[in-house]
Amino acid sequence: MAALTQEKIFYADMSWPETNAAAKDGRVALIPVGSTEQHGPHLPTKTDAFIAERICVEVAKRKPAASFVMPAVGYGYNEHHLDFPATIHINHETLIRFVIDIGKSLAHHGFAKIILVNGHGSNSAPMEIAARRITLESEKSLCASLDYLAIAPEVFELLEGEDAHAGEIETSLMLYLDPDNVDMGKATRDWGFEKSKFVNYGVLPGGKSFGTAGGSVQFMDWWSRMSDTGTMGDPTRSTEEKGRKIFDACSQKLLSFVEEFRAREIRERVDHHR
Ligand SMILES: [Zn+2]
Repeated sequence: MAALTQEKIFYADMSWPETNAAAKDGRVALIPVGSTEQHGPHLPTKTDAFIAERICVEVAKRKPAASFVMPAVGYGYNEHHLDFPATIHINHETLIRFVIDIGKSLAHHGFAKIILVNGHGSNSAPMEIAARRITLESEKSLCASLDYLAIAPEVFELLEGEDAHAGEIETSLMLYLDPDNVDMGKATRDWGFEKSKFVNYGVLPGGKSFGTAGGSVQFMDWWSRMSDTGTMGDPTRSTEEKGRKIFDACSQKLLSFVEEFRAREIRERVDHHR
């Protein structure tokens, strides 16, 4: 006998009648979005998409009736990393349109709630636009975007140093989730842009800066002007235990948001011209 649709957490594992049932049951579509990008000499190129997907999977496993996981968008907006080998860059307009098309297809099939779960900092702005467009271009579907780290700022309290890319956070998460693909022998501290960050203009709760996007000023330079190794932060302080705590905190926050967003009423629009 076939498994109940609610036991399947991957959209890719479902048949069309099962995806149809998932829509009717009001399950939230989680779309992991990441990158294929250099992550220093010690982490794999899949890091961003992999972590985002693993958090989505954890959330769907904890409460399968509430959500399911879409195939990950494994590429991102990262032209500024192209001076390093490995990075595959997707133009921001292409990425936005691509994600809008996924969201609008889901909306067409009756999924009312969609969440873009982003694991790559430079996707934040394009994903905000994509989420807004999906909501506005569909009749009765809502789409939100979030960065898995930004929803759980308490994890920054675990850090011993500053962190932006392939540093303490991502390396700890990868030590916890995929240690075979982490080479700690090649991990080194790199904080070359220390003097050029603008943290005096608003920082994340918890007081820790998070890369160049840590404040209210938005600015991104070519990565090779700011980092010699591709890393930005101190991965040598990473531990599997920190990774477990960060993963658990981000998963818990995402699950909480999934339930809140799922319960959100979709009201009728009102045309006030008449
Ligand atoms: Zn990353």
